[in-house]
Amino acid sequence: MKPLVVITGASSGFGAAMARLFNANQYPLLLLGRRVEKIQALELSGEVMIKQADVTDRAALENAITQAEAIYGPTDLLLNNAGLMLLGNIWQQNPKEWQTMLDTNVLGVLNGMQLVLPQMMAREHGTIINTSSIAGFKAFENHAAYVASKFGVHGLSETVRQEVAAKNVRVMLIAPGAAETELLAHVTDDHALTEYQAWKESMGGLTLDPKHVAETVKFMYEMPQEVNIREVDIAATRQD
Ligand code: NDP
Repeated sequence: MKPLVVITGASSGFGAAMARLFNANQYPLLLLGRRVEKIQALELSGEVMIKQADVTDRAALENAITQAEAIYGPTDLLLNNAGLMLLGNIWQQNPKEWQTMLDTNVLGVLNGMQLVLPQMMAREHGTIINTSSIAGFKAFENHAAYVASKFGVHGLSETVRQEVAAKNVRVMLIAPGAAETELLAHVTDDHALTEYQAWKESMGGLTLDPKHVAETVKFMYEMPQEVNIREVDIAATRQD
């Protein structure tokens, strides 16, 4: 039997594409999100556990992972993917949006890592792939708090990679460019949204297909355990 893969943010976008691909390849899955009905609607078959968990709710995350590991064995891959992007300029954006992004995109990622790392380090086997963004190393207008959160994901991923490397545990990072997902659905600032969409149009409207991000993380994971593809930046060819 293949080892357990845990995916946060499995209800849409990249996470849903990852869930489909790993399910098609017979990995037992724990799929997490707040909208479980959207995960159920993926209609996956086989060894799939679906649990409602907000990544900022450590108890819910821990409970779900414990239940899945009792059935499928230890988590061997955590796809720490849940996140959101709320755009706006710094002098007008509601600070509650900053808080939501930092809580979800940074603390949510730390929560997932802390919950699976002790058993991975004890087993001297395991992989975590954090989803960052091109905005994790490059600035974009109207993205201050989002960029802060994703630079944070880059920094914490490299820090933890160094901390656990001697235990044969891999921390990897994928940094995608713009893709067609539900990411923009939560933006409340119409001006920032219009500017973002104009930027996407300037690339000929061609953005990443989430399935290519899923294929990339699967490739990264399936490299031998002694090889760590530390970071992959992946974007549509026409993205600037
Ligand atoms: P989607 O909005 O389609 O998916 C986001 C996922 O995150 C959903 O499954 C959502 O599930 C989940 N999520 C959001 N907040 C929480 C929370 N508090 N607790 C648990 N789950 C949560 O967007 P993407 O697929 O595009 O985003 C996935 C990741 O990719 C994010 O980290 C994003 O920052 C990153 N990214 C996206 C890019 C893009 O252009 N699309 C580019 C670069 C990076 P639910 O609402 O059901 O909880």
